[in-house]
Amino acid sequence: AETERLKMVEAHELSAKWYHYLLMNTTHGAEALRYLRERGVSDKLIDQFMIGYAPPQWDTLARFLTARQFDPSLLERAGLLSAKNDGSGYVDRFRSRIMFPIRDRDGKATAFAGRVIGEGQPKYLNSPETKLFAKSRTLYNLHQARPSIRKTKQVVLFEGYMDVIKAWYAGIHNGVATMGTALTDEHCQVLARQANEVIVCYDGDDAGQSAALKSIAMLEKAGLKVMVSMLPKGKDPDEYIGEYGPEAFVREAIGQPVSATKFKLIYSRKNHILLTEEGRKNYLLEAVRIVAELDSSIEREVYLQELSREFDIDLQTLKQDSFQMREELQ
Ligand code: ATP
Ligand code: MN
Ligand code: MN
Ligand code: MN
Repeated sequence: AETERLKMVEAHELSAKWYHYLLMNTTHGAEALRYLRERGVSDKLIDQFMIGYAPPQWDTLARFLTARQFDPSLLERAGLLSAKNDGSGYVDRFRSRIMFPIRDRDGKATAFAGRVIGEGQPKYLNSPETKLFAKSRTLYNLHQARPSIRKTKQVVLFEGYMDVIKAWYAGIHNGVATMGTALTDEHCQVLARQANEVIVCYDGDDAGQSAALKSIAMLEKAGLKVMVSMLPKGKDPDEYIGEYGPEAFVREAIGQPVSATKFKLIYSRKNHILLTEEGRKNYLLEAVRIVAELDSSIEREVYLQELSREFDIDLQTLKQDSFQMREELQ
């Protein structure tokens, strides 16, 4: 079983290099290369992340690996090939896609994410769950980010592969991303072992913001301090860097995160109509509940003072409510 794992890793390492070679050196790859460059992915980044290209043919990888004595059924179990429906053999799982090798924490290639060039569905195709690869435990770029995470005790959490890559270009070397699925408790434990603080930097759309809310709760439960980088409406980090440049991204987005509490308050606020008395009241109740969850009484007081001033409500009243809610939380 251990030798099977080793073989699977070896196949992924070879595939990553092969896909990378095809991207850089073939006419089919040229279109993918142009697409990457148009998106601001330099050759240096392509090398750093060993980005590659899977050509449109059915059996490019199958031939390459079987010629090197790999057993096709092992390659199928590794998620690199798919069995044909009629049982007559195997075809490449990834075709006509830009290939992002996914590595485990030691840097060994264990899976791929493949992106269509331009529009198309599904936008990203991942390797299936295998002996080597579990989405629920894997964080993209963790192996390269680890030294920086350990040094700064801080990690930046993104939604997408491109966000990690473009952030790296901007000098953010402690960025990781989940595999397009929700953050899990296992991810949080991995992060909590290496960092004290997480900056959540999700897309500035509704999906991203509601995902951020869920991730914050889980990260806090794992004992991490959580800050949130809020991007302008609709932008993701990759688009932000494309539009405003890497320096602005580092300075404005990563450099000025808001506290998790502030983020929750902003989020809650958007869901209430503050022009009505009812809306204001409901927002205040929710806001006090958010603040009540804070363990530090100083922090609680700071936020309650803000609310008291803004809504012209007696601070003592807010404190009483917050105190009561804390009792209920215990
Ligand atoms: P790009 O910048 O290349 O368009 P993105 O990262 O901005 O990609 P989002 O739509 O924001 O893409 O989705 C965030 C992440 O969710 C992706 O990086 C990918 O991991 C995952 N994802 C998105 N669409 C799909 C899909 N159709 N199937 C599987 N995973 C997906
Ligand atoms: Mn190269
Ligand atoms: Mn995105
Ligand atoms: Mn994007």
